Amino acid sequence: MSSIQAGVNRPLGGRHRPADQAAVRQSNLALVVRQLSAQPLRSRASIAASSGLNKATVSSLVAELIEARIVREAGIRSGTIGRPSRTLELDGSGLAAIGLEIDVEYVAGLARDLAGRDIHSTTRVFDVAGRPPEATVAELVSVVKELQTRAHSAGAEVAGIMVAVPGLVDIGHGLVMRAPNLDPSWRELPLAARIRAALGEPPFPVQIENDSNLSALAEYREGEDAYASQLVYVTGQFGVGGAVIIEGQLHRGALGFSGEVGHMVIDEAGPACGCGRAGCWEAYVGLGALLRRVDPRWDLTVDPREAVEEIVRRAERGDDATLRALRDVGKWLGIGASILVNIFDPEVLVLGGYFARVGRWVYEIAMSELRQHVLASDLRGCRVTFSALGFSGPLRGGTGLVIERILADPAAFTHLASGRRRART
Ligand SMILES: [Zn+2]
Repeated sequence: MSSIQAGVNRPLGGRHRPADQAAVRQSNLALVVRQLSAQPLRSRASIAASSGLNKATVSSLVAELIEARIVREAGIRSGTIGRPSRTLELDGSGLAAIGLEIDVEYVAGLARDLAGRDIHSTTRVFDVAGRPPEATVAELVSVVKELQTRAHSAGAEVAGIMVAVPGLVDIGHGLVMRAPNLDPSWRELPLAARIRAALGEPPFPVQIENDSNLSALAEYREGEDAYASQLVYVTGQFGVGGAVIIEGQLHRGALGFSGEVGHMVIDEAGPACGCGRAGCWEAYVGLGALLRRVDPRWDLTVDPREAVEEIVRRAERGDDATLRALRDVGKWLGIGASILVNIFDPEVLVLGGYFARVGRWVYEIAMSELRQHVLASDLRGCRVTFSALGFSGPLRGGTGLVIERILADPAAFTHLASGRRRART
């Protein structure tokens, strides 16, 4: 027998080089987590049977996952054959994901454990638009410290941070390429590296992503139309963003800049836009445009959520200028949305951000414009809904993405949670 044949015939359980062993253990840990995620309350023997791993290997993998509090023993189930066995389920209390959000007028953060339970959230009114990026980085670091302290009190170690940014993001390099509604110095800015450095190079990943992409992912996982296979999301913030999910996957485009629907030009002779052009959709339906139309002197540096509540109060008491401005928003919202429905033919179009809060004043007009401008009759069954996630979409989507990445590769994170457990005992 030649040495090559000997290699080929070597059984899978045979000797491997250390690098191979680490890779095999890494993928086996992920396999056990996937099995429990798909079907909780299973015994070690049942996982061994369906995964093809031997029972001793499963026991050793489970011990590591229990130590990291990614998995826990749930109870005892009597089997049909042999002794009763202990069942397992995902735990997740030992690790926390942090979502951060940069908006024009505030920064916010949310910490959730691996099981998706909220640990703590905070929002701080902060003039991001009018200050240099360094000031925002310092404020974000302070938010992280607050969330980290609360996570530690809950017994969890931070395992990743995802930052939602209102602009074009190069996710591979952690760069903010452009953020039209922020200071011009937010251009080709290495934001992920700046945050990492300001945090003292923490032992977990810090990543950045476009805010609308994260909101769309939150809609896809947690919204009322969760798991719709073709989902178009449009969010009304100070600006207007969007994202498209096709078969459960975010459509990023060639460079990752897909979904900048706020800068579709509706009329090039239209009002000025924050991007420096004129007549963009955002200049008609963004929150800034609405506030200016209600009152040209509106102070645009206040917390946008306060401003939306003021708009709702004025609309409820029948204020003419407000109702007129909302009718305009409804009209242009429908016209712009019809372009998206014509292109993507989605199963559901979700309107988020402030659009959801003013839904009762804009829905009928928007729907009438949509029916007029979408080629397929009666929108071909496309549902148009308002998001129920409010302004929390970017934080929920961000923490969701961190959690998903941990569960896909638990081996890279187990040392964090077990380190914390040792530190506590
Ligand atoms: Zn624009």
